[in-house]
Amino acid sequence: MKRLILRRGREKSLKQHHPWIFSGAIERLEGSPAPGETVAVADVHGEFLALAAYSPASQIRARVWSFDDEPIDTGFLRRRLAQAWSARGSLLPPGTSAFRWVHGESDGLPGLVIDVYDQTLVIQVLSAGAEYWRDAIVEAATVISGRSGVFERSDADVRALEGLSARVGGLSGHPESFPLIEERGLRFRVDIKAGQKTGFYLDQRDNRQRIGELARDLDVLNGFCYTGGFSLSALRGGARSVLSIDSSRPALDAAQENMRLNALDEGKAEWMEADVFAALRRLRDQGRTFGLIVLDPPKFAPTAHHAEKAARAYKDINLFGLKLLKPGGLLATFSCSGGVGRELFQKIVAGAALDAGIDAQIVGRFSAAADHPVALNFPEGDYLKGVLVRRMD
Ligand code: SAH
Repeated sequence: MKRLILRRGREKSLKQHHPWIFSGAIERLEGSPAPGETVAVADVHGEFLALAAYSPASQIRARVWSFDDEPIDTGFLRRRLAQAWSARGSLLPPGTSAFRWVHGESDGLPGLVIDVYDQTLVIQVLSAGAEYWRDAIVEAATVISGRSGVFERSDADVRALEGLSARVGGLSGHPESFPLIEERGLRFRVDIKAGQKTGFYLDQRDNRQRIGELARDLDVLNGFCYTGGFSLSALRGGARSVLSIDSSRPALDAAQENMRLNALDEGKAEWMEADVFAALRRLRDQGRTFGLIVLDPPKFAPTAHHAEKAARAYKDINLFGLKLLKPGGLLATFSCSGGVGRELFQKIVAGAALDAGIDAQIVGRFSAAADHPVALNFPEGDYLKGVLVRRMD
């Protein structure tokens, strides 16, 4: 078998079962594997460490399939998919027909994402290894899930880092373009072809529930509302009013359609197409205040290289968010940037409060829902973080 030999001492992270092998750790390659082909990884003495998918274009030169010496074939992929499938059963709340079935590295399937939207599967292939096995994965996925419609949304930026071009389209059966899903009984129409990510932010499911519980009788502001997830939850939870802001017209149209699907009180909802950075300043100038504010912006820092610029953006929205809170009001603020860790994010929010001249305390913390697990050996998987902050004065 073709082999990757690591430099002396560079086997340490693999021995801790971290699944990535960076180009700088490699002493030499024996043989010439195709992109995505399986290679054996060995230390400088030739001792076996892992089986991994080779990715010649990427800084992450190989991603581990297995730390055991077992065949990497369709049977292996089927087992990993089936494990992830059976784990989801007990993790989902009632009234929920959409979930993340496969969460990449944390499910032992590096570079692979599969989301289930009722009867439709949406797959994201983000690494050379997942690309190499794509047909086998799709075939196994339809069998295990009992769903025939599969749509591919391999258009995430990270594909370029693997030397892969974007690809979007149907892969199997007749995937529904706008599947109707339920999340704890709330209904949403998901645009799997043109929506963001694979169409819906499944990772925020539990946090939307929490916001619903907190919203009763409050004036709520939902910044970066997308298709209305937090807004609908707040309306159902008995909010007095909900102002939702997004810069995307299609997202706002979908959000309003979702509101109508759920027969919520439309009179309590206000929808604003705007840049949140500018809108928060305008709301301050108008003297508006809120009892509960949600800020769930897009990924400002995909990697640690972007952390500084991202920190300024996070600080800006949180500073103005805090200023718009009534005394005793709550700010639920999120970051899904891999490049900004929990500790740094908390520091940024603390800095924003200081600059705003506001005393505040953390009264809750947020993570991604359980169908987005974080493998203990893969802390990079812990990308979504948030704090619930209470304004004291
Ligand atoms: N909270 C949402 C997901 C938010 S995704 C949910 O639960 O579904 C981030 C959203 O921010 C996207 O809808 C995107 O259109 C929007 N967005 C990005 N930059 C923006 C900006 N500067 N102002 C307003 N909206 C923005």
